[in-house]
Amino acid sequence: MIAILLGPPGAGKGTQAKRLAQKMQALHLSSGDLLRAEKAAGTELGKQAAGYMDRGELVPDSLIIEMMVGKMTQAKSILLDGFPRTLAQAEALDVGLTKHGLKIHRIINIDVPDVEVERRMTGRRSCAACGAVYHVDFAPPKTAGKCDKDGLDLVQRNDDKPEVVRKRLITYHQQTQPLVDYYSKHGLLKDVDGTQSPEKVETKVEAALA
Ligand code: AMP
Repeated sequence: MIAILLGPPGAGKGTQAKRLAQKMQALHLSSGDLLRAEKAAGTELGKQAAGYMDRGELVPDSLIIEMMVGKMTQAKSILLDGFPRTLAQAEALDVGLTKHGLKIHRIINIDVPDVEVERRMTGRRSCAACGAVYHVDFAPPKTAGKCDKDGLDLVQRNDDKPEVVRKRLITYHQQTQPLVDYYSKHGLLKDVDGTQSPEKVETKVEAALA
């Protein structure tokens, strides 16, 4: 089974994909996580991607397609999170899957309005040392600005800064939202309201995947 989680940045695609991948014994493939790992490891791809990511822009299709399409044969069940994000990527994915006799089984569009996305993303803080993630409103640390686990300073991810979040939303509407139409035509797309609690969204995504 290959399923795609679509939706704006901050919709909870990563959270849902992680939870469901465990439950369904599926491979969670997040293009954002893979790019962040490349960046942290200082690879050539990481260096090429860094500027785009920090500005809230998409990394060029050629780099992403090469990184992602080859991974489609890595597991029987795959949850795609953050890929595809452009029509060119969706088309390249279709071609790559067909070549291996594979196909997409379901596309879940997690719907969250822009104002909620901005609130979720700009409030996010994390500990640079241990990676623990907090939110100034929804999951605040015991002491403002400090990690509960090690007491170190919390930082805001560069791409969670307000001006970058706004840019990421513009990018989403221009380049990724057209995929909703593209996949609606496949008849495989289901919409899920992503504004509820992660548990409720999970139940709905799971039902939509069945
Ligand atoms: P994410 O964690 O999925 O929100 O991705 C973080 C950043 O990585 C995005 O803002 C883009 O700069 C880049 N990125 C992730 N996935 C893709 C993709 N499929 N196409 C182009 N850029 C991507």
